[in-house]
Amino acid sequence: MPSHLLPKFKKESVEKTILVGLEQVGVAKWELLESLEELRELARTAGANVVEVVTQKLDHPTAPYYIGKGKAEELLPLATQHQATSIIFDDELTPAQGRNLEVLLSRKVLDRTQLILDIFASRARSREGRLQVELAQLQYLLPRLTRMWGHLSRQTGGIGTRGPGETQLEVDRRRVQERITRLKEDLRGVRQVRKTQREGRLRGQWPLVSLVGYTNAGKSSLLNLLTQADVFAEDKLFATLDPTTRELTLPNHQKILITDTVGFIRKLPHTLIESFKATLEEVVSADLLIHIVDLSHPQYLEQIEAVEKILAELGAAQKEILLVFNKIDQVKNPVLIETQLTRFPGSVAISALHGLGLNEFIHALETHLSTSYVQGCYALPPDQSALLAAIHRTGHVISLHYDGAMSIIHALVPSQLTQRLKSFKQ
Ligand code: GDP
Ligand code: MG
Repeated sequence: MPSHLLPKFKKESVEKTILVGLEQVGVAKWELLESLEELRELARTAGANVVEVVTQKLDHPTAPYYIGKGKAEELLPLATQHQATSIIFDDELTPAQGRNLEVLLSRKVLDRTQLILDIFASRARSREGRLQVELAQLQYLLPRLTRMWGHLSRQTGGIGTRGPGETQLEVDRRRVQERITRLKEDLRGVRQVRKTQREGRLRGQWPLVSLVGYTNAGKSSLLNLLTQADVFAEDKLFATLDPTTRELTLPNHQKILITDTVGFIRKLPHTLIESFKATLEEVVSADLLIHIVDLSHPQYLEQIEAVEKILAELGAAQKEILLVFNKIDQVKNPVLIETQLTRFPGSVAISALHGLGLNEFIHALETHLSTSYVQGCYALPPDQSALLAAIHRTGHVISLHYDGAMSIIHALVPSQLTQRLKSFKQ
């Protein structure tokens, strides 16, 4: 994609930043390092350059500064030395921690949640995506408004700022609250439209396949390869925010709808999971999930686990899954590919970028979809001619006879049709 079409990032893309993480009870050192590595990627995606990473071993975060006071004080000279304009903490800070740290360090203090929200905000392209991000941002902001106000009164300072400041704070709170209410209403409207569209699609009776996987695993690349759709793919986290659905006809003439989803990531802020549930409903309503794994990533097993955890949170853990190992062109040791394919029966190995293993993948896809037929016998009243037509169109009719006005049909029907047929089952 030409660079002028990429979403615009903040111009100060050389912003220098320091990352701070805590090695807490129950968190292994490698987990912390992985989390910080991901935070570095997130910072890079948001346009910042990480100049230093600071960690501390502590049983629990401290209430005033998250890290210990001594450690927090050490950050000031460090930031000055590196000319860092911001400091990013690897977990969500409480409003008090954020405020105290900003006062102590006199520069921008961000946490993981804010960073993720910032990236989402700069990349949201659909109306629904934009509404969701703004809502999540305001929900994050609301309990922190005093901190923002602290800023302003410090800037204007002096006698008399306190009284009006307090009043203004109340006004701001109310405005933010009103905006939140408004956004929720707008979102309800947008979601209703989407729901109707989704149901419309279901009426089309094509199976819905959703691409899921850790961020950067190659979901968008695979969708591109399959449909030659120009879906935005690039080497940054969260390149895809909004789901993109494409139509695809498999070699066996089976038509499917295939949806790209937002990349999954560790420690995704809970408000974000909540507000993106609607987007991720595509995942929950899918007939088949294609879980794409970057096999060239040293932590691919942990990434598989992280994705499965999020799927469980979305209530999609029981879905049928086709596991796809991607980027095999980057895997140095071919034995690894073989062992993983054996370890995960039914999985396939591909390179979405170079089109390797595409035939095996398509074959696996066809097999998975063809197994989702269910045999049943249904008695349909005359006003259900549309349903009868749907069975003819998408299923395999074994027998059909009439009992008075009722059509008695015995057929193999696609599983996604069984829901609508439930009340007619014999
Ligand atoms: P997504 O976040 O899961 O949608 O990942 P993308 O499709 O955006 O891909 C992330 C990066 O990995 C891009 O730079 C792709 O070009 C690259 N990529 C995807 N598939 C492959 C592959 O099979 N081999 C290699 N070497 N790179 C790949
Ligand atoms: Mg993508």
